[in-house]
Amino acid sequence: MLLIANYEGRSGTEQSAKLLAQRENGLRAIIEGIKIVEANHDIHTVGLSSWPNMLGELQLDASVMDGNTRRTGAVGALRGFKHPVEVAYSIMQELSHEILVGEGAERFAREIGAIISKNETETSIKGWNNFIETTLTHEQQKNFPNIRLLDIKNTAIDPEKILANSVQDQANEQAKPFDTTVYLSIDHEKRISSATSTSGWAWKYPGRLGDSPIIGAGSYADSRFGACACTHTGEMTIRAGTARSVVLYLKMGLSVADAVYEAARDLADLKTGYLDEVTIHAIDKEGNYKVVGLNSSEEIRYVVWKPGMLIPEIKSAEIINL
Ligand code: ASP
Repeated sequence: MLLIANYEGRSGTEQSAKLLAQRENGLRAIIEGIKIVEANHDIHTVGLSSWPNMLGELQLDASVMDGNTRRTGAVGALRGFKHPVEVAYSIMQELSHEILVGEGAERFAREIGAIISKNETETSIKGWNNFIETTLTHEQQKNFPNIRLLDIKNTAIDPEKILANSVQDQANEQAKPFDTTVYLSIDHEKRISSATSTSGWAWKYPGRLGDSPIIGAGSYADSRFGACACTHTGEMTIRAGTARSVVLYLKMGLSVADAVYEAARDLADLKTGYLDEVTIHAIDKEGNYKVVGLNSSEEIRYVVWKPGMLIPEIKSAEIINL
């Protein structure tokens, strides 16, 4: 058995580890952990109290994958529900589709009785107000929202990270403009699973999907070989098909570390478009794991649990610059 999660997801890892130890289905175990992260209002990039899009609307993405069946469920740009990851799981369970977005996803969530939630909070709205006040011209503010949004610069991805001044509880990663929670597991029956949940980027263009709901980009699981999930620049992992690539490299016989390095080289070969850092989390079917931060300027931490550990442990990822 094994659990790997990114640091953003640490608040749910004890629950997932407990369920894995109790021989729960691994996909259900990681969903239960992610639900704790989604309900955590101190994390502003997953679920409740996340940073909204340019219009001040909070649109959430999530996905699940069962590596035994390779069935997936994903939801994109979902508004008004507490647990996008549970909606994604229900898409996998209830529909013959693999992904729903926007209004259709919201209709589906209502039909299955998903928990309704007003996810925008005082803090997330305050951050968005600050973005509007510091980024839009006087004219744009006067006419907002009837302006060309594409003329607005997304300050969340600026080096100065204007967002860092936008909230009072900015002390640490709580003020990060983007992140996700990603979990990977191997359960007692050797089922390998992956799941993700995110609000994507702060102040994103409305309707923007990152890699978290795109199976093969932000996550992939195949019980025959292993699993992978990525955080940070989804615009890059979508183009490189990173999560699927890692699992394919495992299938081709590479070690988990070499599979991740190979996928990192694919990312580093991208020379146009928005380029920034990517963290790749990967496991193989033997329970080996590797987490690498590509072009990260800061320490990248992640969480690991396996049988014998009383509680999940925090480790530092290898940083590579290519
Ligand atoms: N990968 C996520 C996205 O692009 C964001 C993140 O993990 O930082 O939506």
